Amino acid sequence: MNKLLILVVEDDIPVKNLITITLKSNGYRYLTAADGETAVMETASRNPDIMLLDLGLPDMDGVEVIRRIRSWSNIPVIVISARSEDEDKIEALDAGADDYLTKPFSVEELLARIRVTKRRLDQMAGHSAASPVYENGSLVIDYVSGCVYLGGKEMHLTPIEYKLLCLLARNTGKVLTHKYILQNVWGSSLENDVGSLRVFMATLRKKLESLPDSPQYIQTHVGIGYRMLKI
Ligand code: CA
Repeated sequence: MNKLLILVVEDDIPVKNLITITLKSNGYRYLTAADGETAVMETASRNPDIMLLDLGLPDMDGVEVIRRIRSWSNIPVIVISARSEDEDKIEALDAGADDYLTKPFSVEELLARIRVTKRRLDQMAGHSAASPVYENGSLVIDYVSGCVYLGGKEMHLTPIEYKLLCLLARNTGKVLTHKYILQNVWGSSLENDVGSLRVFMATLRKKLESLPDSPQYIQTHVGIGYRMLKI
């Protein structure tokens, strides 16, 4: 069996130990790095599958690690932050992180994030070239014809709703920030557009989700953004 290799970037020894013990007892392989320079070096030389990255490192900010590796690596990065401020997470996500965990976190939360990321990796491997058809649960997007089907029935989406849905679908498993979505759907990231984004998201959800109040496909990250989940 091909076990995932996870790079744990953490300078806090008790936290690092908690993570590595959890990974080991759940059948994952791991590497560790206690600072940013080592993290970049290990990513380049050992080619790990996933990075768990603490944002507060002794030699550089974790966001800087993401910026350095993103020019040549697509490795999924799960940010681990002691800072509860959303701004740090948003900065990390905008720099190219996939997901985040806030300290203190439970072992179950950590394992759940790794499973989401693994599904994303599997999906990337299965659709290495841009696939013309997206399938997730009962949702099907035919990118070529621009048609969307839910449970075999064609959905009627406005052009903005379609763009929004495609952006989330192409990034399934990844948390997208408001800024990223606004830039990619509207070509702007004006602060006050977050309100319009919410409105479009609400109408899209009404069409997509059988229970818009407990959405199955699109997850809300309050103050941060949205994520399409793999069903
Ligand atoms: Ca730290």
